[in-house]
Amino acid sequence: MSHVPPDFEPVDRELGIAGQPASHWASEGTPVFVYDRAIIAARIAAVREAFPGVELHYAIKANPLPALVEWMGGQVDGLDVASAGELALAARTGLPIGFAGPGKRDAELAEAIAAGATVSIESGGELERFAGLGGRTALLRVNPDFELKGSGMKMGGRGTPFGIDADQVPGVAARAAALGVRIKGFHVYAGSQTLSAAALIEAQAATVALAVRLAGECGIALETLNLGGGFGIPYFANDTALDVAAVGAALPALPGTRLILELGRYLVGESGVYLTRVVDVKTSRGTAFVVADGGMHHQLAASGNLGTVIRRNYPIANASRFAEAATATYDVTGCLCTPLDRLGERVALPDTRVGDLIAVFMAGAYGASASPTAFLGHPPAREVLA
Ligand SMILES: *Cc1c(COP(=O)(O)O)cnc(C)c1O
Repeated sequence: MSHVPPDFEPVDRELGIAGQPASHWASEGTPVFVYDRAIIAARIAAVREAFPGVELHYAIKANPLPALVEWMGGQVDGLDVASAGELALAARTGLPIGFAGPGKRDAELAEAIAAGATVSIESGGELERFAGLGGRTALLRVNPDFELKGSGMKMGGRGTPFGIDADQVPGVAARAAALGVRIKGFHVYAGSQTLSAAALIEAQAATVALAVRLAGECGIALETLNLGGGFGIPYFANDTALDVAAVGAALPALPGTRLILELGRYLVGESGVYLTRVVDVKTSRGTAFVVADGGMHHQLAASGNLGTVIRRNYPIANASRFAEAATATYDVTGCLCTPLDRLGERVALPDTRVGDLIAVFMAGAYGASASPTAFLGHPPAREVLA
């Protein structure tokens, strides 16, 4: 059987999403991403309970759907952006904004300064440009000398365009003081998509220790520490959900410092379902294929082509026959004219017919906006906030 996430149950023998059958969400056309707000709210509540007193920020790049970002504005304490486009989106909510990321152009820095966003400075050169544009307070983003173990995408512990190497931080801080830029604290983002509470506990402890040491070396008060995130979600069969309560319980206390967690995937990833309609069912040399009207141009990650070494299936189901038992094994492909366009390999499904809806779960983060939408000229997917 495919590993369907526990948040989803049948409604009228179909897959239920936010209390409605899948056919309801597909009625205005497929493919469509549906994001269930109740699932996002449950993840936010879990993080808040586990991390009392810590500010929770949403990293917009995980899912920048304007309706979702606007709704998030009422749920979290701040928004993290990485471009002028995301900054404009975040500014509509009135929430505090953090701006991190390599290659910030002068125009982006100027807009961030004008919007009152907290800029995370990524290099000595960026500090010079920030000061030249009138920036007066900032965080220094530190490339830590450790890495987040078990992380899908490692960001620390090696040469990287992200952040300032820990040993260069005191020099950059001294230059900031000379330029009249007040450094409020540090930003450390050590990795992404970790399911190991132990690895996160270790990384958070190392982050706090590093920040305290660097504040001492730089002679600054540690007003703010952005702890990063890296919380993962269980995409694959046999993955175990992250124990957020354990991670929160182990966070060292840091009185007098404003602590920030910045999460994207963990908050929104499990809320999303990508619904695509079956256009063709065929057998080729003994393999049964379900060919759907969606594909990797909307959901690159599910096809295994977004930073994966070994392709594994995302949870996938026949949403039209959700209550029926699996009777056959299919390869589920999209409609793109490339063999890379696979949504699921050897997937156990009920007898599947043309016109059925296929659901690809875990589609709430790094889906529509992280896929090559223009590739092969099909229209974009619809996106609905449920
Ligand atoms: C991408 C990113 C995030 C969000 O990462 P997730 O794995 O989606 O939680 C947070 N902070 C920074 C600086 C990022 O670049």
